[in-house]
Amino acid sequence: MYIDRILAPIETLGPGRRLVIWTKGCTKHCPHCANPELWDTAAAKEYSVSDIVTIIRNVYRETKFDGITISGGDPLEQKEDILTLLERVQDLTEDILVYTGYTLEELERLWTEDEIRRLKQYISVLIDGPYIDTQNETDVVLRGSANQRILYFKEKQKDAYEVYLSEGRKIQNVMMGDKLISVGIHNRKGECS
Ligand code: SF4
Repeated sequence: MYIDRILAPIETLGPGRRLVIWTKGCTKHCPHCANPELWDTAAAKEYSVSDIVTIIRNVYRETKFDGITISGGDPLEQKEDILTLLERVQDLTEDILVYTGYTLEELERLWTEDEIRRLKQYISVLIDGPYIDTQNETDVVLRGSANQRILYFKEKQKDAYEVYLSEGRKIQNVMMGDKLISVGIHNRKGECS
């Protein structure tokens, strides 16, 4: 799998304290994407799913995170690996949130019925659709733009998300090595929250 980074605990990409994975690789190339450095896999190091599962389980032992968020890049462009990964960590939490630039309807055309069934079984929430910069509104929480939908596959998670959404956009600054990384949903350039 192509992975850029894994950080925890993060409190700005879903309810509670979360482990967040950023995958590498995205062919959508939405204008003004917040993470264009994650589009290309050419120079990326590849990790086995087993290695990533081991890292996630080790972090869980240390932090007891509440949920997992998988962003990117587009995680669902690594379909086989992501389904295997999700299957192997679903016992850790009932709340796995995945971002994708595809709409669910597009996925349903491109994936088999069984692959869609597995995705819906393993994750609680899918945030779908491409990023549209002109629809990046500051009151759109957890999503980059208003066209993106929050699709619940486990209804019991909905209350926690409703509370999170009522709190507005949040940003958390995290040191990664010698770099300061700003984690969360950012406003359009030139706008303040
Ligand atoms: S789908 Fe996401 S990662 Fe890919 S270009 Fe669009 S905003 Fe960026």
